[in-house]
Amino acid sequence: MDCPICNGSRWKSVAVNGVERLTRCDCWRNVVKERYLAESRIPVKFAKAELSNYRPDTDSQRDALRLAKKFVEAFPAEQKGLVFYGPTGVGKTHLAVGLLRTVIRDKGARGFFFQTTELLRLVRETYNRSVDETEMEVLRPVLEADVLVLDDLGVEKTSEWVQETLGLVINTRYNARRATIVTSNLRDPIDNTDMNSFMVQLGVRSRSRLLEMCEWVEVQGTDIRDVERVTAAAKSGHLPEPPERITKKGPLPGKSGGMARARLKDSGTQFELNWSGGKAGSK
Ligand SMILES: [Zn+2]
Repeated sequence: MDCPICNGSRWKSVAVNGVERLTRCDCWRNVVKERYLAESRIPVKFAKAELSNYRPDTDSQRDALRLAKKFVEAFPAEQKGLVFYGPTGVGKTHLAVGLLRTVIRDKGARGFFFQTTELLRLVRETYNRSVDETEMEVLRPVLEADVLVLDDLGVEKTSEWVQETLGLVINTRYNARRATIVTSNLRDPIDNTDMNSFMVQLGVRSRSRLLEMCEWVEVQGTDIRDVERVTAAAKSGHLPEPPERITKKGPLPGKSGGMARARLKDSGTQFELNWSGGKAGSK
């Protein structure tokens, strides 16, 4: 149905100092937001994930939700992103999607969701001669989005190419002061030889950038899948052993970033790959 204000032209006239001017009709913004939402690449699996239906049961989940809401309220003034890291099944992706959808819908932001493995696959595909798209065409929305969700960072087996490509994304967004929301199962321990740490998987430089450009929240909780397993078992009359709760608390970076960075300095050479900051580009 056509808009009653503009009859579908998407323009309306307003008087500015007594002079009639054409301006975008309110309905145009809604059309744009709908288009942005449709193009945001939010997976169907998370089509209903909102901040309003995220149910935290641990303090760290409450913290993560509070920071996600704070980000949305402050946007676009807030350019500092968020890193939600911790075990699988604690709702990190739900939070990131809820934040992304709200910021597109309420603030008209241009935002994209990329599963990290999928993003790397798309970039890799452009090296195939039968694919017309260039590496930069794939990366442009990733680099230029007002808000980018990088989901499941670190799930891809690391390599120099993976580190360079993710490094390009992180560094470009850092320089442009664009907000990046990361979810990851990686850990950030003091022992930075841990194979599943940000340091080893991303390299010292990208981790350090992420520390500067994002607030980090270690999200802990009861794994949803464990709860479902227990619920299903209870229904069938068989109660299994209670799931092992993950209580290990790693050091919290972010606020204590100064110390974390000092630590980085000491061990910096170990993982430095002399990343030039632009090798993965097509220039
Ligand atoms: Zn209209």
